[in-house]
This record gives sequence, C-alpha cells and structure tokens, in this order.
Amino acid sequence: MNTMLSLPSKKETEELIEKAKDWALMHGVCMRSKQKLNKNVLQFAPFILMPSPFPKKEFENACQIQIVLNILIHRVAQDYNFLKETLEEIVKVDNFTEKLFEICKIINSEGGSAQKVSLGILRSDLMLDTTCSQKDMIKKCLPYCCWKQVEINTIASGFGWLGPASTELHKFVLRELGYHKEIKNLPENNALQIICTSMIKAWKIYGNEQAVILFVVEDVTYNICDQRFHEFEIRKQNPNVRVIRRNLTQLAATAKLDSNKELIVDNYIVSVVYYRSGYEPGQYHTQKEWDVRLLIERSLAIKCPTIQYHLAGTKKVQQALAKPGVISRFLKNEKTCAEIKEIFTELYALDFDEHGDAAIEMGITDPHRFVLKPQREGGCNNKYGLDIKHFLESVKNKKDRVAWILMDKIHPPIHKNYMIRPDNSISIEPQELVSELGIFGIIIANGNDIYVNKQSGHMLRTKLATANEGGVATGLGACDTLPDV
Ligand code: ADP
Ligand code: MG
Ligand code: MG
Repeated sequence: MNTMLSLPSKKETEELIEKAKDWALMHGVCMRSKQKLNKNVLQFAPFILMPSPFPKKEFENACQIQIVLNILIHRVAQDYNFLKETLEEIVKVDNFTEKLFEICKIINSEGGSAQKVSLGILRSDLMLDTTCSQKDMIKKCLPYCCWKQVEINTIASGFGWLGPASTELHKFVLRELGYHKEIKNLPENNALQIICTSMIKAWKIYGNEQAVILFVVEDVTYNICDQRFHEFEIRKQNPNVRVIRRNLTQLAATAKLDSNKELIVDNYIVSVVYYRSGYEPGQYHTQKEWDVRLLIERSLAIKCPTIQYHLAGTKKVQQALAKPGVISRFLKNEKTCAEIKEIFTELYALDFDEHGDAAIEMGITDPHRFVLKPQREGGCNNKYGLDIKHFLESVKNKKDRVAWILMDKIHPPIHKNYMIRPDNSISIEPQELVSELGIFGIIIANGNDIYVNKQSGHMLRTKLATANEGGVATGLGACDTLPDV
C-alpha cells in the first residue's frame, strides 16, 4: 500500500528534508549519539518524513481497549500466585527473572510493600496484521483491518515525548508542503501531558509537598530528550514538584528508609519512583543495585512500576494470558475477554511437555513463521528466521529452553516513505517500511480501588520492512505519526 502524499521535485524534497532535520534538532526530537558519545551534543532522532497510513477505526479500537488492558495488567500484578505459578519454571533457568521474582517473593512474605498505591504507565505495542486481512476483509470490507499485540510494556514505557513531538514535526512538514487539510487527520496526542499529570497525581496522593519524584535512570541516557521533557512538563504543570535523577548504583550508595519506611535519597524524601532503567541485567552491576531495588520496593514511595507490575509485563505472562480461559480469571465480562483474546497472536511455551515439544518442532520446521523471545526488555533480544531453527536445535534437550517463548509473527502492511537518519544514509528514494503503534495507558490504584484508568496518547515507530526490530533507541526504527485513513 502506498498512500504517501506526493512530494515536489527532488531538489525541493532535499530542501524539505534538511529543513525537517533542523526543525527536529531545534524542537528536541533528539537523542544522544551511541557512536560518538559526548554528553553535551545531541542529534536528531531518526524520523519518517511524512505520516504513515493507519486505519482510523483500528486506531480508535486500540485506544478504547487500552483501559481494559490496564485493568488486566493491574489484576495480574495483584495476583501473586498467578505470577508465581507462571514464572515458576523460568526462574529456575533465567537468573534475571529469578532476581526480580525474589524481590516479589520477599515483599509478599512481608505482607506487601509499605505503599499500597501503585502507578502504572503502560504501553501496549501493536501491529496491523495482513495475514488476517483476508477473512476480515470480507467481514469488514477493509484492507488490513485487524491488529495484534506485539507486547505490553509495564516498565520504562518511553516515547511519551517523542510520540507527540513527532506529530508536531509532521504538522510542520505537511504545512511546508501545503497539505493544510491533511493536518486535521493527525490524531491528537497528549501523551506527555497525561503521563506527567499521572505522576503529579501520584505525588499528591503521597501527600508531602516537600517530597520529590525520583527518576531511576541508566548510567548514560541516550533517550535524554524523552526523559527530560517529562521532567520539564512536571515542573510546568506544578512548579512545586522537583524531579531528581539517579542511577541504581548512585541509589545503592545513598538511598535509605527512615523509621516510617519513607525513602530518603540524599536529603530528599521520595514520593514517586519512576523507573526508566532496571529492566535489563546490565543495569544491575553488582548485588548492591539489586539490594536497592528491594529497599525501594519496601518503601512508602509510590512505584512506577511495582515489582509485581514489572513481572506482569514479562513475555511469559503474555504467553500465559493468551492460553484459553486464562483472561477470564481476571476479567469477568465474557465479551471483553473475547475482545482481548482477539488481539493476541498465538504464543507457545517451550515447557518439557507434549505442547512444548510440539512448539519446538514447529519452530525448527518453519522458523519464518515465528519470533522467539527471552524474558528481556529494551529491544534486540529476540531471534528470527534461521536463527530460531539453529537455536531451538541447540537448546531442545536443555532445561534453558523454558526461558523462551515462541510467538506467531505478525505481518504488517508495507508502505513507502522516507526514513531520515542522522548518519546521513538517506536514500532520496522512498523505502519500504512497516510501523508499530504504541498506545499508552495510565492506571493508579490501591488494590481494588481504581483512582485513575485512562488511555493516554500514543507513539508510532517505523522501520525498514526488511528489519526484524524497530526500536528507535536501539537505532533501527524511526519516529513517525499516523494520519487516519
Ligand atoms: P522488547 O520488550 O525488547 O521491545 P518486543 O516483544 O517488543 O520486545 O520485540 C521487539 C521488536 O521485535 C518489536 O518492536 C517488533 O519490531 C519485533 N517483534 C516482536 N514480536 C513480533 C511479532 N510477533 N511479529 C513481528 N514482529 C515482532
Ligand atoms: Mg518491551
Ligand atoms: Mg517492544
């Protein structure tokens, strides 16, 4: 499908690209470079020149369903026994998940954290699927009319800034091209405001004007604009709220609990802990970083996410939820369960049983049908194509196989557009691309009391149709927006 708006001559297109790059640089659509790291220098984040097509109805449907997904994740996070049963085999072979679960277990054995209120900033990622288009085309008379969930993120769900900033960039490009009417087709995107309002709401619930919001960050933050604009927006919305940034190693050296279990970092009392780190093993250099994660978990600070929310976002939990009958443990309405089931692909566990054996054989025989995933976040951890076959052959008889899940591959529609990258490798020819939509969701709750549950904006990432993964932070994808078509 190529619904790309027509462009002027080659020379004018080149000029437009240069102007759009400068616009991105001057408006913070930027990141730090992984190649030549100089903390004082930013470069624009890769972007797609013009908005990519996405069916309006499917976009709206994805937004609507988000509040149900929020509830589903919240209830899963509340259900210690479900998390325990689901992750039981994995923790035996995957040290990282074991360490996370160990914290969850300790907290549970202590009767829960001192803080019962949780803040969930979730992002459900999805792709349109052309393989289900044939039957659905007949049903709904539309091409590409179904989408499938890639995953749901419960920790460090980024792009609350870069999502809406990409909409502004595209408005600029469309204005330059004289496409004034088309600007109205870009859906409103208030991700940054809503996410920051939710953090301030959590700060208010904590109830101490002096307390700060702690961003737990990486040792080096490449996606710095995305994080800092959250901080600036918080200050803009409420000048009384201070944000501090610390990595886990710094926290290990300074964080402590006072006699009321308040979290103290340096001389600050922390009201809300917002993790933009802590989701991969490399972020915990020693046992000290793990110890401080436990300390934070025990504290009175409101966590985003809690350790249970973190675990509820694992690929294994996603696979368990996709099994027949499992969502009805969390959602009582049959119609809602059916709607949620519809957005899941088939997911297969690789346990040592007949189903696991069958999944391994399927993966070896037909690897191109699948994506193979470990229990990791942050992109570039999955296996594709023949790597799946070779890997499964090598782990087939090893206990480690249970740490992975096999997922049906989604085949998004291909569209054409220009991918603009800071390394100058711009092809002035449009390229074949595919997109992944992320829908943000906010849930603030205390057990069964839900204080806030809303859909909160979106982000779109687009990658080369030939690329396996498309994370912008990992350098493979590009920021994009969608017009309703
Ligand atoms: P992570 O938590 O590391 O982001 P994901 O499950 O989102 O892990 O996988 C990373 C990327 O791999 C996705 O952004 C997408 O580009 C690709 N991917 C993952 N699952 C699928 C799938 N089922 N079909 C097609 N592509 C997929
Ligand atoms: Mg993820
Ligand atoms: Mg992802």
